Amino acid sequence: MVATPSDDRKYRHRREQLVDTLRSRGIHDERVLAAVGAVPRHAFVDPALRERAYTDEALPIGLNQTISQPFTVAYQTALLEVGPDDRILEVGTGSGYQAAVLCEMGARVFSIERHEDLLARARRLLDEIGYDVRTRHGDGTKGWPAFAPYDGIVVTAGAPTIPESLLRQLREPTEEDGRRGGRLVIPIGGRGGQTMTRVARTGSGPHDYEREEFHSFRFVPLVSEGGDDS
Ligand code: SAH
Repeated sequence: MVATPSDDRKYRHRREQLVDTLRSRGIHDERVLAAVGAVPRHAFVDPALRERAYTDEALPIGLNQTISQPFTVAYQTALLEVGPDDRILEVGTGSGYQAAVLCEMGARVFSIERHEDLLARARRLLDEIGYDVRTRHGDGTKGWPAFAPYDGIVVTAGAPTIPESLLRQLREPTEEDGRRGGRLVIPIGGRGGQTMTRVARTGSGPHDYEREEFHSFRFVPLVSEGGDDS
């Protein structure tokens, strides 16, 4: 794909309109809006769907998976409260779009995907555009202990319950340097719909977590090892 300058202009204009749409739908975090305004979403969708890349909708990316709706990406990113240089783990790389948005937020991004071919495609694209994301093929419900603890973990598929390993890989708050505890943002529920949930680590103990619930969404299912997504 060779982008022409007029393509660039066209997509840039549409991207600005998308940002306005997100603002009107309730996203007020200016850093998140700027990140969405910077990522070329059209590069992350199938060429046949490129004309719809900047409408606020989820689109198929193959293997029964979708690139999330921009509103959803912005909503989850805002709930993560990403600070500069935060280490963020994403479960469900999919197209790579959410990972790119996190890079634009200044985070150090780690991302896991269970479908090897989706991951290969996302990997190529992120490299091509120049987004520095560490990726791994595997079951993200186990997290990625090698790079823990994380300031934020975002799960981009619907989970029946909160995976324990993810909670354990959140950063503990530290008093000495005033660092906050890590946040897990995860849609919890069955296949029909999930409640966006945020769990923040408030201490080092096994019960030092605070849970908040937000709006309902509908994600593709989180499939742990041995599961099937048919
Ligand atoms: N964040 C993606 C959205 C992808 S949809 C984007 O921006 O495009 C959710 C993704 O989660 C799918 O690609 C699916 O294959 C993946 N997934 C589901 N269960 C998983 C698991 N246990 N570990 C890692 N990835 C998983």
